[in-house]
Amino acid sequence: MLENVVLLLQSNQALFFSLVGVLGLCVGSFLNVVVYRLPIMLERQWTPITYETTFNLVLPRSHCPACKKNILPLHNIPLLSYLFLKGKSACCSQSIPLRYPLIELSTFAISLFLAIHYGVSWQFVAALGFLWSLLVLFFIDLEHKILPDNITLPLLWTGLLINSFQVFTSLENAVYGAVFGYSFFWIIAFFYQRWRGFEGLGLGDAKLLSACGAWFGWQMLPLIVVLSSFTGTVAGLIYILKKRGSLREAIPFGPFIALAAFITMVWGQNIVSAYCNLFHVSF
Ligand SMILES: [Zn+2]
Repeated sequence: MLENVVLLLQSNQALFFSLVGVLGLCVGSFLNVVVYRLPIMLERQWTPITYETTFNLVLPRSHCPACKKNILPLHNIPLLSYLFLKGKSACCSQSIPLRYPLIELSTFAISLFLAIHYGVSWQFVAALGFLWSLLVLFFIDLEHKILPDNITLPLLWTGLLINSFQVFTSLENAVYGAVFGYSFFWIIAFFYQRWRGFEGLGLGDAKLLSACGAWFGWQMLPLIVVLSSFTGTVAGLIYILKKRGSLREAIPFGPFIALAAFITMVWGQNIVSAYCNLFHVSF
């Protein structure tokens, strides 16, 4: 059965890409729900008040945050509804945050990109799961400056699990990757706090780097650290110059790790082997 589906998708690229495109849009729509609701769910867990109404990823039904009316399925079609409604809600003409179409579009684009890059394979299926989780972490950290354990920890376990089948690297590399990734950030965070007297790096960053190590092996960690620190520093400098703020208003680091992890997943192997050839070292 599964073999037949694989054969069909391999022989019919147009069908494969269309299915992935539609899937990307639907999942993008769901990721929007997670990005909006998960931080609220966590906040409710952390406050001692008991709430009367249920609030999770399914309940209450999709409604307009401004006037609380339910959103009709017709007005909830990924991307198309936003364009058709010209960015205003159908119920009360409030502008819909740009985050919604942006998440749908990036999920769509990334899913298609992975389909082209990996083709019909287990690597493709795993990469989809990894990148969808990264997208959620990217947007939640950007807005709320948290990387929820509910996502970083399962990402870590699944990395170890898939690599027990050698999907991206050996299980041995994955285990070392998970341990080194966490320890690296933990040590920096520890000394930074000693030195500056306040928390500069959250341990959410350590868990995310640990997950990246579990997915792609310890060999990829230096590349992820270099790429994310570089892009993070550039963005931080631009932020300070533009807003005249100080570094103390911690800008979230998670989005830069997520970006670096994406680049590393797709091109990391090539970058690392080019680098090793240059200096005549091998792993
Ligand atoms: Zn409304």
